[in-house]
Amino acid sequence: MLYDVTFRCGHTRMVNLIGQYEERQRKMLRYNNFVICPDCQAAHAAVHSKPSASVWGEADRMRPRY
Ligand SMILES: [Zn+2]
Repeated sequence: MLYDVTFRCGHTRMVNLIGQYEERQRKMLRYNNFVICPDCQAAHAAVHSKPSASVWGEADRMRPRY
């Protein structure tokens, strides 16, 4: 289900949240407090010159790397 989520950086993005209501609330809170939006993640990564910038945030962490 798509939600408008405000990220820690203040930007709002559509995020697909799944799971129980409480689970979704928890995830939204986490985005609000700890996660910056994909744009800012990319910008942040560029500043630190990491070529493998994670623009997918959480989804990327759950995927095995190579
Ligand atoms: Zn942002």
